[in-house]
Amino acid sequence: MKIIDGHIHIGKWSGVFLDYETNVADAVRVMKESGVDSAVALPCDTFMNEELLNEIKSQNDFTFHFAAWINPDDSNLDSFIENNLKDIKVFKIHPSFQKKRVTDPSYSKYLDIAEANNIPVIVHCGRWQDIAGFTFPIEAARKRKNLNVILAHLGGDQPSLCTSCASAVKESGLKNVYLGTESVREFHFVNEVVKTSGADRIIFGSDYNLGLPKMYIPIIESLKISSEEKELIFYRNISRLLGIE
Ligand SMILES: [Zn+2]
Repeated sequence: MKIIDGHIHIGKWSGVFLDYETNVADAVRVMKESGVDSAVALPCDTFMNEELLNEIKSQNDFTFHFAAWINPDDSNLDSFIENNLKDIKVFKIHPSFQKKRVTDPSYSKYLDIAEANNIPVIVHCGRWQDIAGFTFPIEAARKRKNLNVILAHLGGDQPSLCTSCASAVKESGLKNVYLGTESVREFHFVNEVVKTSGADRIIFGSDYNLGLPKMYIPIIESLKISSEEKELIFYRNISRLLGIE
């Protein structure tokens, strides 16, 4: 089955991950040996958008869909976006690192750009409910019908958060909200989430260079759903968002 990894990191982390660093060649090798066909590539929390984009463009071994890290405090960000709009396939927002909710006014103009240019936005969701809770990206998607939002880590990377997030997504009835599976290892709850939200809301991701595709592909393979539904999760949903279907 074709697989697109919807969430990988390439580059250098800050002290949070002990300055750990990988490059594009490492990612190409790992993606190929995992049977991944293409991948959405995000920088790490050192926000090196330009470096990553250039490194991706200078190789033709593998297809990466470049995701720009949206740090509103980055003074180079606006010109970077303006100069590279055609190469930016996804935006990534990390409320915990930025200490700002995705609904914070400083993100507005970037959500405008995303909405106007059909750029899906990955929003990190975590356990810090006041800042990185899944309710904020759902609220943003409710207000902006043309914005596609992918809630990372199934809305919080913790069984109780993932299952309540899936219920909230279902109750919202929104068709512009998706859930990324990256880094969620509790397979029973991934199955519960998919049953609740439906496979048409779910996007596979590994969170490489922190995780490996081979750690998370078996979780999707083990889901008690049809192979058509697995295709949605492994590549059809993200392909549609990236406009590559
Ligand atoms: Zn990540």
